[in-house]
Amino acid sequence: MAIDSHMHINNIVLENEQEYIKDINENHSIENVINVGLNIETSEESILISRENSKFYSSIGIHPLYIESQDIDNLYKLADDDNVVAIGEIGLDNSKNNFDEQKKYLIKQIIIANELHLPVIIHSNNSNKLIIEIFEKYVKPKYGCVFHCFPPDIESLRYLVKNGYYISFAGRITYKNARKSFEIANTVPSDLFLVETDSPYISPEPHRDEVNKSSNIGYIISKIAEVKKMSYEDIEQITTENAKRLFKKIK
Ligand SMILES: [Zn+2]
Repeated sequence: MAIDSHMHINNIVLENEQEYIKDINENHSIENVINVGLNIETSEESILISRENSKFYSSIGIHPLYIESQDIDNLYKLADDDNVVAIGEIGLDNSKNNFDEQKKYLIKQIIIANELHLPVIIHSNNSNKLIIEIFEKYVKPKYGCVFHCFPPDIESLRYLVKNGYYISFAGRITYKNARKSFEIANTVPSDLFLVETDSPYISPEPHRDEVNKSSNIGYIISKIAEVKKMSYEDIEQITTENAKRLFKKIK
């Protein structure tokens, strides 16, 4: 069964949450999902959903586009829950030009993840190199790291692999112009990649016009299997094992 290593069900992104929760609970090909917080409020919401639904785990953190009026120290209290498997998503996003502020939040949250022995989920919008620079200059994740929805970039991939960090494939690999993502899929070692939907965003082909759901994870697994000339079952099994190795609190 598959693990959707990165998706969002919260009141910022969806109105009819219960419908999406039910869809996952009733889907026999999904073993677990990681419901990723975007700020303190949605991180709290994710934990509440995980407590009530056994397939759900939570990642808590402050996304670079949601840093306004957030108290990072709340993460310590929230992390004290069996359902919290990671800190994230955290990172840099070059669609806003408040990089200095974004950097502070990123550094502080990596420090917290290291203190709590948790892996981090990194959001990088065209910022792979700057994030790697922060790892080298200030603080490196010590308990694992995944670049979610990895923006294809062979040079950064080399750095991540060297450090034992993971990358995660989302819907982009199913798009027509995904040549670079194919190259990444063929280069990444088999013990260092995950799959995710990032739902409700980036719907895969052939559902690009619809709201994305975790149940679309199979399209991403199939595409990777096709590109790597492996079976669907192998990619599903490998990515599930990888997710459990990275997110150690998944049972
Ligand atoms: Zn996300």
